[in-house]
Amino acid sequence: MKTIFFTPGPSKLYPTVKKHLKDAINKNIPSLSHRSSAFQEIYREASRSLRRLLRVPKDYRIFFLSSATEAMERIVENCVVKNSFHLSDGAFSDSFYQIAVSLGKKAEVYRVADGSYLDCLSITVPAEAEMICLTHNETSTGVSLPLTCISHARKLYPDKLIALDIVSSVPYPALDIRLVDCLFFSVQKGFGLPSGLGVLIVGPRAIEKSLLLKKKHISTGSYHRFERLVQYDGKSQTPETPNVLGIYLLGKVTQDFLTRGIGKIRQDIREKADVLYSFFAKTPGFVPFADKRLRSDTVIVIEVTGGSDKLLDHLKEKGFVVGRGYGKHKKEHIRIANFPAHTKGDVQRLLKEIKRFKF
Ligand SMILES: *Cc1c(COP(=O)(O)O)cnc(C)c1O
Repeated sequence: MKTIFFTPGPSKLYPTVKKHLKDAINKNIPSLSHRSSAFQEIYREASRSLRRLLRVPKDYRIFFLSSATEAMERIVENCVVKNSFHLSDGAFSDSFYQIAVSLGKKAEVYRVADGSYLDCLSITVPAEAEMICLTHNETSTGVSLPLTCISHARKLYPDKLIALDIVSSVPYPALDIRLVDCLFFSVQKGFGLPSGLGVLIVGPRAIEKSLLLKKKHISTGSYHRFERLVQYDGKSQTPETPNVLGIYLLGKVTQDFLTRGIGKIRQDIREKADVLYSFFAKTPGFVPFADKRLRSDTVIVIEVTGGSDKLLDHLKEKGFVVGRGYGKHKKEHIRIANFPAHTKGDVQRLLKEIKRFKF
């Protein structure tokens, strides 16, 4: 039986990954030197395609790291002398805050109760904060920040840097990248790829800030400090031996996304989200968790009356792996990923099986 992963990362592989993996082996990609011109071409292809897909401005750099978690650490290390500000609406946005604390920064956090509405305009960012850290899509609770929150933050605090986590929504949000200074994701969610690769997009103001830290003799890290990443990006390379296969696959899948069309990908996600939410709205035993105004289209979090364990076991038996609730919601919630890899047929088959489940 074929198993479909609806887990919010790692998740179902994008359908073309199998072919690209085979090609990669046949072309000896995993054996290539990361200093060879063949690798430089792979790097350029991935970078160029991402630039087109996400409309990355010319003066923004694209860096390849090991994960989104690493990106959080690099951002704080390179852009914050002392004070950062974090909006936390769940476990992932909270880990951004925890990383800043671990790095010895004076981080402040504004916490919102899980799943509840938050009015961005009512939040005051402390004057001393150098950077505002936001999470577009909180994967633990299924809350998605409206893009207007980001433009408001830019307008209200033009002198502060803004970092944005788009791990579990990319490439869905039609974001104006100029509104932020650092943007990051890992590839095992929306891109439907194997894990082990993070992408960090950095604007000129963030790079300038990292040079200011250096001037003040504050550590910005070692091999992955922005200065070094910029230097290597200039030769289409990374300081260390990177995930060459991952970068190759990312370039290929990004091209597949471009061929399918970003408009079509977004429309498909919107339509599948509508199908999912309307099913759960009319099916007894299920209640969408997040406030209606902030419900995520890419990670659908549903509270299951009487607990989610039995349903998840049942679905697994039938070939559908759905995400468990996160942290303290482990036994109450299910989390369904709605990524570009998931077809309308996948969603229909999943819902048919959920309908059959007897509580
Ligand atoms: C998964 C996830 C992360 C962490 O990604 P890693 O690749 O495990 O580092 C960070 N933020 C959000 C919103 C996520 O969903």
